[in-house]
Amino acid sequence: MNTRPQKTKDTAFDKSSDPTGMLTHAYLLALGLIAILTISSHMITAHISDRQKKGEEISYSIERQRTLLQQVISSADSYYRLGQKLDYDFMMQSLQEFENSHKYLTTIISKKSSFADYKSPALFRVYYHPPFNLDERITHFHNMTMEFAQYDPKDKDTKVHEKRKKLLDEMSYQASSVLKSAMDAAIESYQTETLQKGERFYNIQFSASIFILIVLAAEALFIFRPLIKKIKDYNAILQRYALEDSLTGLNNRRAFMNAGEIEIKRAQRDKTPMTTALLDLDHFKKINDTYGHETGDRVLKHFANILKQTFRAGDITGRVGGEEFAIILPKISHKGAITILQRLCDKTASTPCEFKTANGKKDTLSYTVSIGFTGPVIIKDQTIDSLLRQADEGLYKAKEEGRNRLATTDTARINEPF
Ligand code: GH3
Ligand code: MG
Ligand code: MG
Repeated sequence: MNTRPQKTKDTAFDKSSDPTGMLTHAYLLALGLIAILTISSHMITAHISDRQKKGEEISYSIERQRTLLQQVISSADSYYRLGQKLDYDFMMQSLQEFENSHKYLTTIISKKSSFADYKSPALFRVYYHPPFNLDERITHFHNMTMEFAQYDPKDKDTKVHEKRKKLLDEMSYQASSVLKSAMDAAIESYQTETLQKGERFYNIQFSASIFILIVLAAEALFIFRPLIKKIKDYNAILQRYALEDSLTGLNNRRAFMNAGEIEIKRAQRDKTPMTTALLDLDHFKKINDTYGHETGDRVLKHFANILKQTFRAGDITGRVGGEEFAIILPKISHKGAITILQRLCDKTASTPCEFKTANGKKDTLSYTVSIGFTGPVIIKDQTIDSLLRQADEGLYKAKEEGRNRLATTDTARINEPF
C-alpha cells in the first residue's frame, strides 16, 4: 500500500490566491462603520430629545412669565386701590418669581452660556436687539414696579398719589402691549428656530439610517456572498479530496468501498449479479527501481486512463492501494465479465506508457496487469470486503500462474443469461 504523501493537483488552497483575508478586513471595516453610524445616530437621538426637553422648559418659562406679569399688574392694581399688605406681598412675590425666571432664561441664551447646545440666536435677538430689546424692557418694568412699591398707599400727598397712578398706568401698558408682544415674538421665533433645528437633526439621522442600510446591503453583496461562495468552493474541494485519488482521479479506497456497499445493497434488492475484480500491476517494484518513482507514477496514471476508457458509466472503479485497483461490474454475464477483463489485460499489455528518461528523452515502457475476480454472483450475505478477499485469491492465482492474466477461485458459476 502506498504511504507516500500524494501530490496535490488543486491550487484552491493556495494562500496567495485566497481572498478570505481581504474579505475579513472588509467585513471588520463595514462592521466598524456600522458601529460608528449607529452610535452617532443614537447620539443624535439623545441630543434631539435633550433639546426637546430643554426647549419645552424654555417655552414654559416664557409662558409662565406672561402669567406672572399679569399677576404683578393685578396685585399692583388692588394694592393701589385698597392698600392691602396682602396685595403688596403677592405683587412682590410675583415680581421676584418673574425676575428669577428671567435670570434663568438670560443665562441660557447668553453668548457666554455653558448650555452651549441650547444657545438660541432667535431668542438672543429678541432679548438684546431692537425692536424688542426684551431684556432692557423687563429691567425697566422691574424698576418701575420697585419704585411703585416704595410709595405708601396711605400717603395723602396728591403728588405721591399722581406718581403712583402714573407708574401703575405705565406698568399696565408695558405689561399688556409692549412686553406682551415682545414675549409673543420670543415664543414664536424660538419655536420656529427649534422646529428648523429639529428638522435638520432628523434629516441627518435619516441620512445616517439610509447609509447604514446601504453599508449592510453592500456587506451582504460584496462580503458575505463571496465568502459563502468561497466556503462552498472549499467544501466541494474538500469533498473531492476526501473521495478522489489525487494521482489518478479515480475513486480512492474509501469512495470505492462506499460505492461498493451501495451497489451490494442494490444488487441484493434487485437480485442481480455482481462481479468484483482486484487488479495489481505486475513487477511494479521493478518499474520503480528501473525507471524511478516518477515514471512509476506515470504508469499508474496511464493505467487509470485505460481503466476509464474500458469501463461503462455504471461500473465502479477505484485505486484501492499503491498499484492495486478494483472494479465492480454490476449486471454482467460471466462471459461478458471475462471478455471485458481480458480486453483490459490485453490492452494494458499492448499499450506502452510514454515517459521521459533521465537525460530528458522520450521513451516508452510496457507493463502488464494481473486480475483476480469473483462472480458474477447473486449477493446474499457477502460484503464488499469478503468479495475483495475472494477476488484477491483469484489475483494470487493469476500471479502464481505467470501474471498478465485473469484468474478466479470461484467454484460455482451462476447460470446465464447474466
Ligand atoms: P507483483 O507482480 O508480485 O505484484 O510485484 P510488485 O513488484 O508489483 O509487488 P510489490 O507489492 O512487491 O511492489 C509494489 C510496489 O509499488 C512497491 C511500491 O514502492 C510501489 N508503489 C506503491 N504505491 C506507489 C505509488 O503511488 N507510486 C509509485 N511510483 N510506486 C508505488
Ligand atoms: Mg501489490
Ligand atoms: Mg504488483
